[in-house]
Amino acid sequence: MPFKITGVFDIDKYKKELLHYLNNSGNILLICHVNPDGDSIGSMLALYYYLKHLGKNVNMISPNYLQDFLAWMEGVEEINIYIRKRKKCKNIIEKSDLIIMFDFNQSNRLGEAEESILNSKAKKIVVDHHLNSGSFYDLMISNPGSCSTSEIVHELVSAMNGGVISLKGYIEAIYVGIITDTGNFEHGSFTGETFRIVAELLDAGLDRARIYNLVFNNFTESRIRLLGYTVFKKMIILHEYRTAYIVLTKKELIRFNYRKGDTEGFVNLPLTIKDVDFSALFIEKEGFVKLSFRSKGNFSVNEFAEKYFGGGGHYHAAGGDYYDTLENTVNYFLDVLKKTRGNEN
Ligand code: 5GP
Ligand code: MN
Repeated sequence: MPFKITGVFDIDKYKKELLHYLNNSGNILLICHVNPDGDSIGSMLALYYYLKHLGKNVNMISPNYLQDFLAWMEGVEEINIYIRKRKKCKNIIEKSDLIIMFDFNQSNRLGEAEESILNSKAKKIVVDHHLNSGSFYDLMISNPGSCSTSEIVHELVSAMNGGVISLKGYIEAIYVGIITDTGNFEHGSFTGETFRIVAELLDAGLDRARIYNLVFNNFTESRIRLLGYTVFKKMIILHEYRTAYIVLTKKELIRFNYRKGDTEGFVNLPLTIKDVDFSALFIEKEGFVKLSFRSKGNFSVNEFAEKYFGGGGHYHAAGGDYYDTLENTVNYFLDVLKKTRGNEN
């Protein structure tokens, strides 16, 4: 029976549970979600540093490739990419006694690694902050009130360690998770606790400006040109639905030398328009369309993504994959948009 503490998020109870699993496991595997973002990688790397510091035998797997803008992070070279080294990864999974997963709660977010992970006899823990959870784990450590999974990992590690771990790689990993999931403290559910954690990280030697530049000021020229093109030529606004959407084809991405991560943040831009409170981004992939949704005010994109696109996420930020052509996907979106928001005005 999966174990999840309900009611107030009680870090000490979770710490006790987590320690029980850690103390009874020889080989520990950490795994992030497919197309990992800064929070999934940050939370995984941070716990990796802590467990290494304890002398544990730890491995890391990412289901697929990392985004370019995270390539500078300390420790990423230790992450095994499942789709690059399937045999090695399957072997690691088979030998693991404990698998800890970061920043997701639906098993399909494991991408190609899903089957091997679900079939593994290892105990499974999920650390997450998304709404609605699956049940493919033994222990779920989740707080949808936290701005990031990295924040939760920091609370767990601080509780286990009896104070802040001041390893550079650890501090930077936690901070990357927090600033990427909040858009550098612009959105998401950050709280006073988030700032208390940031204060701790600063006191422990965090170079805030350096990390900001590496995360947000480190793009290619073609990425900023793609951004300009997208906003100028591709952003469609449906005033009657207070909705904006952007569709990018494979051809357009190739024209602008697209690299993984280049469209990160694009979907947020239409929300800066006064009368737009729902924004959607469609990216054409091989055989499917990647969807990103954002909202402000009281429209749950998590519900929208889950109900119509089999995806999920948070109240104001969600996404999903849709296995159809770009054209069909957009038409379907327009249909469900009318259904969902057509009679709101
Ligand atoms: P993004 O639009 O930045 O890719 O994702 C926004 C949020 O939605 C993130 O919290 C992410 O975890 C979630 N999300 C994105 N794509 C999917 C998906 O395919 N399935 C689910 N369940 N969540 C997703
Ligand atoms: Mn997250």
